[in-house]
Amino acid sequence: MLSVLEVKRKLPRDFIKEIYEIYSPLVCDKILAGLNGERNVSMRVNAIKTNVQEIMKVLKENNIKFERVMWYKDGLILKNSNEKQINALKIYEEGLIYLQSLSSMIPPLVLEPKEGEKILDLTAAPGGKTTEIAALMNNNGYILANEIDKIRCERLKYNVEKQGASIIKINNGKGEKLGEDHKEEFDRVLLDAPCSGEGTFLANGPKTYTSWSLRTVNELAKLQKKLIKSAYEALKPNGTMIYSTCTINLEEDEKIVDWAIKNLNLRVIDINLNIEEKNKLPITTENMDKSINKTIKIMPSRNMEGFYIAKLQKIERRGE
Ligand code: SAM
Repeated sequence: MLSVLEVKRKLPRDFIKEIYEIYSPLVCDKILAGLNGERNVSMRVNAIKTNVQEIMKVLKENNIKFERVMWYKDGLILKNSNEKQINALKIYEEGLIYLQSLSSMIPPLVLEPKEGEKILDLTAAPGGKTTEIAALMNNNGYILANEIDKIRCERLKYNVEKQGASIIKINNGKGEKLGEDHKEEFDRVLLDAPCSGEGTFLANGPKTYTSWSLRTVNELAKLQKKLIKSAYEALKPNGTMIYSTCTINLEEDEKIVDWAIKNLNLRVIDINLNIEEKNKLPITTENMDKSINKTIKIMPSRNMEGFYIAKLQKIERRGE
């Protein structure tokens, strides 16, 4: 395990500067501690094919220690095993479980998809959240899962088939274009945006942060605005959208939501999820709309990646 000073030295200097500009020194130390060391493997039970009792039985038979997640019945945190050991199990091979970070289970949950609804997942590969949405809908309804990258799209297809999520249709295209082609068609839209991934940094894993730069953050923010506009266009009036990222800077998180509510007909709504306060990062609203306080940011830690989640609703236009 590295000291906070060593973590600071390893991660990009501009990233360290950025977080110290946003958060208090105490909070920054907690962030850096959360980006140190390893993260516990977590999994989602695929409710389309099995249930959590069956999976807990198999894990016990294989001497795999786990903990349940307070806010999600199908989430399990593994205590003494790595991905390789899980990949060797039959339950993995048969698509009864999906290895997924805990934070990444939150957006589909708070999207609250219902059976029979039409859902759009604008940036979907490799499909952890799309298939979670299908499971939450009891595999009943329709999900359009879009992905720009051809190879990642293949991975998405593979995961969807493996999990038996038969209500998912896959599209390989630009998310920016979908709003135009599917105007006001969807009850709910998930925009799990391409982002700079600061919440997934690990000080001992240079691959997690070498491509990060302030320039990429600013370029991504421009793309995120285009994608959120497209997501908004595809949404029915009164429909719900989740905007999420696995990053923790303002440019890609709070400022995107602030831009969206000032430029599109959207409002921020409450997120109903029982996440402990110690697992949250403070939200910044300086020079921004105060309703952004309703969004949540997850503190990186041993169990969770840093993540940002905003729940938005399209306001119905009256008299049109
Ligand atoms: N929701 C996915 C999951 O849980 O498995 C992860 C999505 S990942 C954060 C963002 C995805 O957006 C990447 O697969 C990336 O290739 C894709 N992407 C990037 N730019 C895009 C665009 N303009 N339109 C559609 N997808 C895009």
